[in-house]
Amino acid sequence: MTALLNHFRLASLPPEAEAFREEVKDFLASHMPDSPPDVRARSWMGFSAEFSRAMAERGWVGMTLPQEYGGASLNAFSRFVLVEELLVAGAPVSAHWIADRQSGPLILKYGTDAQRRFYLPKICAAQAFFCIGMSEPNSGSDLASVGTRATRTDKGWRLSGRKIWTTNAPRCQYMIALVRTSGKPEDRQRGLSQFIVDLSLPGVTIRPIRDLAGDAHFSEVFFDDVELADDALIGQEGGGWEQVTAELAFERSGPERLYSSIMLLDHWIDCLRRSGDAEAHVAVIGRFATHLATLRNMSVTVTSQLVQGASPVVEAALVKDIGTEFEQSIPAVIEAAIAADPLAVVDADLYRTVAYVSQVAPTYSLRGGTREILRGMIARGLGLR
Ligand SMILES: Cc1cc2nc3c(=O)[nH]c(=O)nc-3n(C[C@H](O)[C@H](O)[C@H](O)COP(=O)(O)OP(=O)(O)OC[C@H]3O[C@@H](n4cnc5c(N)ncnc54)[C@H](O)[C@@H]3O)c2cc1C
Repeated sequence: MTALLNHFRLASLPPEAEAFREEVKDFLASHMPDSPPDVRARSWMGFSAEFSRAMAERGWVGMTLPQEYGGASLNAFSRFVLVEELLVAGAPVSAHWIADRQSGPLILKYGTDAQRRFYLPKICAAQAFFCIGMSEPNSGSDLASVGTRATRTDKGWRLSGRKIWTTNAPRCQYMIALVRTSGKPEDRQRGLSQFIVDLSLPGVTIRPIRDLAGDAHFSEVFFDDVELADDALIGQEGGGWEQVTAELAFERSGPERLYSSIMLLDHWIDCLRRSGDAEAHVAVIGRFATHLATLRNMSVTVTSQLVQGASPVVEAALVKDIGTEFEQSIPAVIEAAIAADPLAVVDADLYRTVAYVSQVAPTYSLRGGTREILRGMIARGLGLR
């Protein structure tokens, strides 16, 4: 156990990252849409191409990508600060979110020079938004059983199959899809490859799915004999599993996993300040602050490992597991606090925000890898599997 825990040596953000925070705050002061807390609580589900383009003009989309491709060549510490400030403000980030966090770094690492030159400048200019095509109707947590297939043709590849739970597919230009290029689903991790799929191609059909809160960010994506050019393959044919594992480490390691309910917590604290009713809740708010401070330190530590070029897969899984538990406890505690005093007058924005966050909180421990899968990875890190 101690070997794993030793990885969490306290790290702190360097002074230049803290100085960058002021720049981000200034930007947000003038660019944040004027929206109520229940809209801002949507943050990383909130889609605004306009906001993403304003960020891109500052060099803050794909900011860790090299300058030669339009990035800002900044490190993961600066990205940590940017993401933290965006989420705390409730900024609508989902247009560029996936390309910035996953698709861009994946293309940089595994793409050909031509792919890097084509896609990365578009990502950094917020002209190309990406979605992730991993899950399928019978292949969610068990990604190795993916059945969507790309078959070789004279000109490239023919893609057939179906993806599900694809965030933002109707609003993205491209999907990076994990598909089978050889063998059968029973072959598991072998025979999987990743493709960059232009979603405007004939044969692609996208059907939105509405979630419990009424938003339609999810979709089902159907591929009916979609003809892909040769250069749609990214990385090695058959190397999809290794690539996707690296991609998921990016997905799980950031402050995204701590701040999903922060708008609600902040607004509740604001309401308590205004009403003077804080006394009854100081212990629980103190506990939230304690957990957040500790989790944030763990997340900064994972970031410092990324900066050093490590691939902290198990550490990121630990932070995500505890982080989502923290994020899910916030709406539950606030709902209980409101319900405990039925005669109190409750701020209407607080009602709307807690209603929204309570409805979506169960998804926190599903998206990006379910709780049980993460705990299985942690067990492997402890040498138990
Ligand atoms: C908000 C949100 C956004 C998402 N966006 C995307 C996206 O953009 N692209 C994409 O590809 N997917 C996306 N997903 C899908 C998400 O990653 C899947 O929900 C996830 O992979 C779970 O798959 P499933 O729903 O099929 O559940 P299942 O895999 O059927 O799991 C059901 C339950 O069984 C447990 N379980 C399954 N297998 C095991 C096992 N071997 N050991 C122990 N327990 C197990 C799971 O942990 C879970 O509790 C998104 C999900 C959410 C909630």
